[in-house]
Amino acid sequence: MPDYHLTDAAVRPDPSAWHQAPRRLLLLATGGTIASQSSANGLVPTVNIDALLKYCRSALQHYDVTARSILQLDSSNIQPEEWRLIAGAIVREADQYDGIVITHGTDTMAYTASALSFMLPGITIPVVLTGAQLPISHPLSDATENLATALAMAARGPAGVFIAFDRQVILGTRAVKVRTTDFHAFESINYPLVGYVNGDGLQTDPALAPHSSAPFRLMDQLDPAVFLLKLTPGLNPDFFVLLQHLQYRALVIEAFGIGGIHYLHRDLLEGISQIIAQGIVVVVTSQCLYERSDFSRYETGQRVLDSGAIPAFDMTSEACVTKLIWILGQTRDPWQVGRWFRQNLAGELAGPLTDPAHWGQAD
Ligand code: ASP
Repeated sequence: MPDYHLTDAAVRPDPSAWHQAPRRLLLLATGGTIASQSSANGLVPTVNIDALLKYCRSALQHYDVTARSILQLDSSNIQPEEWRLIAGAIVREADQYDGIVITHGTDTMAYTASALSFMLPGITIPVVLTGAQLPISHPLSDATENLATALAMAARGPAGVFIAFDRQVILGTRAVKVRTTDFHAFESINYPLVGYVNGDGLQTDPALAPHSSAPFRLMDQLDPAVFLLKLTPGLNPDFFVLLQHLQYRALVIEAFGIGGIHYLHRDLLEGISQIIAQGIVVVVTSQCLYERSDFSRYETGQRVLDSGAIPAFDMTSEACVTKLIWILGQTRDPWQVGRWFRQNLAGELAGPLTDPAHWGQAD
């Protein structure tokens, strides 16, 4: 783990603006475009925490904010090691704040939000990730608006992990980055928005945030041996041998349409059955972003289910991958992995929510 340089800053609210005690918020900065500056090699996240705060004083002045820089990375470099570092920073201080905002690059923000949703069962405060499509120093940046939404959600929203972006709040396990430059960079897939901003301020529906009666705990064991495959016509079945060779323990296949995988000319089903027999967990989902997969509809899908693959129904690929990385950190028993995966743990899957006290147990 690199030795990250930690810095602290704080913004205290203007007391005359408040009739009640201001909410105590923690802002954790991790880098991304929001904190980037131009360099000879393109944008790099070099804006320090003091400068970041200076740009958004008006949004911050409504809250009692303590800010820390815990990473300075382009989010392409944020991986399971950094998810653990971020989760640790949250857990260390969650009991001292009403909410936490994490500034983060947009490229892998959906993965981090989903991973944190599984790693922080029973979190008692809102944890809200946000970022920007333009650096905060740019005159047309979306950064301060996104931060304002994130701070409002962290101050008054329900407990859970969320992404706030373009005046919308998305459940952490349902977000996908769908645009590279447009300010409407994220969408909530197969799930309503948990919140949005309109002329009445931030509107939230707390019923859409997963509830838990279990005590908050950190579950940060992870195993990144998960491969995501986008199926293409003509894929060579020898690919599955490679997976075994590279010691992957789980495979997510984005299949065609509602759910189909080819077996003519090149029989992928044979390869799938073989790796399942070797103990690799295979999850099947759709390449389509919207609506559920249903592998029981066509013969080309039913054969996949017969091989022992696990259907992901309406989950995003980001949620499938992070859920498997996290489950494999709890158990490597393929049967147990399947049992955990089929449960709705953090709102990622349609169906009744399984309380963390019963994760991985029989329904
Ligand atoms: N490459 C940047 C990152 O993910 C993009 C962004 O933040 O919008 O860190």
